[in-house]
Amino acid sequence: MSNDAAGRSGLSFAKFLSEMSPELRARINERRRQVAAEEHKRFREAFKTGQCCFCGDALTSFDQAKPCRHWLLNPAGFGKDHLELLAKQHSWKVLENYLRWVANEDAFAKNINDLADEGTGKLVELTIRYKNIEWSFSCSATDLSGHEGGGEHSRRPHYHFLMYVDGKPFIRYNDFHLPLSAPDIGFLEYTRANPGKVQVRSAPIQLDTIVMAPPGKAIAGEDIYNLIQAAKAEGVTIASKMRNLQGASVQTFVSPGPGVVRQATRSGRKKRRGDRKVRAQDRAWREQQKRER
Ligand SMILES: [Zn+2]
Ligand SMILES: [Zn+2]
Repeated sequence: MSNDAAGRSGLSFAKFLSEMSPELRARINERRRQVAAEEHKRFREAFKTGQCCFCGDALTSFDQAKPCRHWLLNPAGFGKDHLELLAKQHSWKVLENYLRWVANEDAFAKNINDLADEGTGKLVELTIRYKNIEWSFSCSATDLSGHEGGGEHSRRPHYHFLMYVDGKPFIRYNDFHLPLSAPDIGFLEYTRANPGKVQVRSAPIQLDTIVMAPPGKAIAGEDIYNLIQAAKAEGVTIASKMRNLQGASVQTFVSPGPGVVRQATRSGRKKRRGDRKVRAQDRAWREQQKRER
């Protein structure tokens, strides 16, 4: 799916989310919860024995021809440029959910911190730790709409990713503008248009989406780009422009991920060295973004 098509489907998805009745949501959640619980069980059983449930290989193995979520565990051979191969196959929410599962194998809920909680104003700002590795995701409204300053990739809906190994930067936020999938765009748009309604931080939500073009039609890509530009020019959310869209229908299942992670309490929490480091990196990052605008 092209990025334009992803954006288009994402908007349809956001519209679908905003119109879904609580009853339907509850029914779908229950159905999805069972499937997700089974997948998590397979993950755990394999992980405990050092195997990856997704590719079937060892967690320490690396095969450039088989991009897999377990690459984020930094197997020998994995280099930062391989991240783009992985990000082409799996968008933010899939990778985040995987890393939440990983972190919870070490210490439930302890290794996940939400920096957006400190009022950075980002849609996504999350740090997850496991042993000697630290991953952070960042997506601002500007990233969601696309911005100048990073070539073609930065003008599409995207997020940024940071990875520390042994306390040293391995991948930096400004190394990549990683593409967001249709469901991720939709989910983030929905979050932006409905502040307070989506507890993405305290309740990881799993999304499975089937996107369908109308019978006999391809999903037109131009519309979404124009729509994003129009929304930016008018300073309104993309979701508010969605009534102008017609076309693709989106069928979506939304459910809380298994092993829901409680948001870490910020007050009185002891600041660890890792936190300070990530916050410093984040401040530098925000300063840089201001300059790019
Ligand atoms: Zn794997
Ligand atoms: Zn960006």
